[in-house]
Amino acid sequence: MKKDVINTAKIKLREGDTVILNVKNKEERKKGKVLSVLRKENKLIVEGMNIRTRHVKPKKQGQESGIIKSEGAIHVSKVNFYCPKCERGVKVGIKISDNGKKTRFCRKCKETIK
Ligand SMILES: [Zn+2]
Repeated sequence: MKKDVINTAKIKLREGDTVILNVKNKEERKKGKVLSVLRKENKLIVEGMNIRTRHVKPKKQGQESGIIKSEGAIHVSKVNFYCPKCERGVKVGIKISDNGKKTRFCRKCKETIK
């Protein structure tokens, strides 16, 4: 029997969330805002993280050449939600209320995440 593959790994992060890099080295624990969520790839584009530089040659006359900086995607497992109350990266929990509405909360301090 063939089953359809369902991707159960759900990304609990949304655009506009602040996330922090999940690394051992404290100095490398950068914070940034989620710019976009790539659900199919389980990846995020985070402001200021994983910056890639690209050199651009002018295509038309008069166009300037230069360097374009853009954020590369990072895997969702490499970041944690940053809770301003706990002042650290935390795990996000999801509560479903009686009316079926999903609310996210900080698993550490139980604060609701908007
Ligand atoms: Zn918290």
